[in-house]
Parts: sequence; C-alpha cells; structure tokens
Amino acid sequence: MMIKLLSFFLLLNIATFAQTKNDPFILILGVAQDAGYPQAGCEKDCCKRVLKDPAAKRMVASLALADPATHQWWLFDATPDITTQMQLFRSKTNAGYPVLPSGIFLTHAHIGHYTGLMYLGREAMNTRSIPVYAMSRMTNFLLQNGPWNQLSSLNNIFLKPLMADSSVNLSTGIQPRW
Ligand SMILES: [Zn+2]
Ligand SMILES: [Zn+2]
Repeated sequence: MMIKLLSFFLLLNIATFAQTKNDPFILILGVAQDAGYPQAGCEKDCCKRVLKDPAAKRMVASLALADPATHQWWLFDATPDITTQMQLFRSKTNAGYPVLPSGIFLTHAHIGHYTGLMYLGREAMNTRSIPVYAMSRMTNFLLQNGPWNQLSSLNNIFLKPLMADSSVNLSTGIQPRW
C-alpha cells in the first residue's frame, strides 16, 4: 500500500512539474449528467442529501481548454450552468483570460450540452459572433429551430460545422495529434 501511495505521489509530482507556465491546460467545470445534481423532481436520498449539504451540488459536465501563450480559451459544452461555470473559470485563472471564450464546442445534442447557448442571446450577454462548433446535423438544428435560430440571425453566435475524422486548429500551442 505504501509503495502504491508513494508511486502515486511521484506521478503526481512529475505531472505537476511537467506543466510549464505556457502549456495549454484544461479545467473541469462540471461533472454531472445533463439535468445536473440534484435533479429536478427527485425525492430520493441521492438528491435530498444535497438540501442538507449544498456543497454536494454538482454542475453539468463541461470543461475549459486554455492556452496561456495566446491568452485564449475555449468552452466545451454550453450547459444550463454556463453562468457559474464562466465565473468559475475566471476565478480559477485570476481573471487572466477574456471573459468570453474564443469558441464553444458542442459535444452532443442532449439538453445539458447546448441549452446554455441561450445565455449568449439578447436577454443575457448579447455576444458578438462567438464561434460555435458542432456536427452539421446539430448546426442545422440550431439554424432551423427557435429560439436557437435567433442567436444566428442576431449574430450572437457564428456556427462552424465540424466534420467527422477531421481536425480543427485552435492555436499553435494546441495541435491535433493522431
Ligand atoms: Zn436523485
Ligand atoms: Zn448527454
């Protein structure tokens, strides 16, 4: 057990020292399923316990990818928790990055992964042409259905269709590896 623990700490140390100041990094902003934790309407102990212990609450799965060399960052998934998640990224990086990401990637079409886009709209941040990357079926859905199509018609977002088995170059520090 001791040896296992020791090697764990050694690995941890190597990982810590391997990261230099300008290396890109990711920050996990949420880990829960689409509907978050606790879930609406759940009367079971799993969610009741969060009433007694608010620290047990978890935000919907999301992560930030940041490049210190270019001071850019990208958000993976626009969740219903996007407001708090953007604040979390900002506080964890000591406001060292722009408030808004250089782009948002949508991983899939479950509610927890795109509905946060509504906060880019006129009633909230009213952003200017934030690139939103998604597979073409998803970009078509967002273009053809309200209320999401308003984000494009008002240029709050700029949809960028992704292609299967192809890569996107984000910055010189973040290159695809096959
Ligand atoms: Zn529950
Ligand atoms: Zn999902």
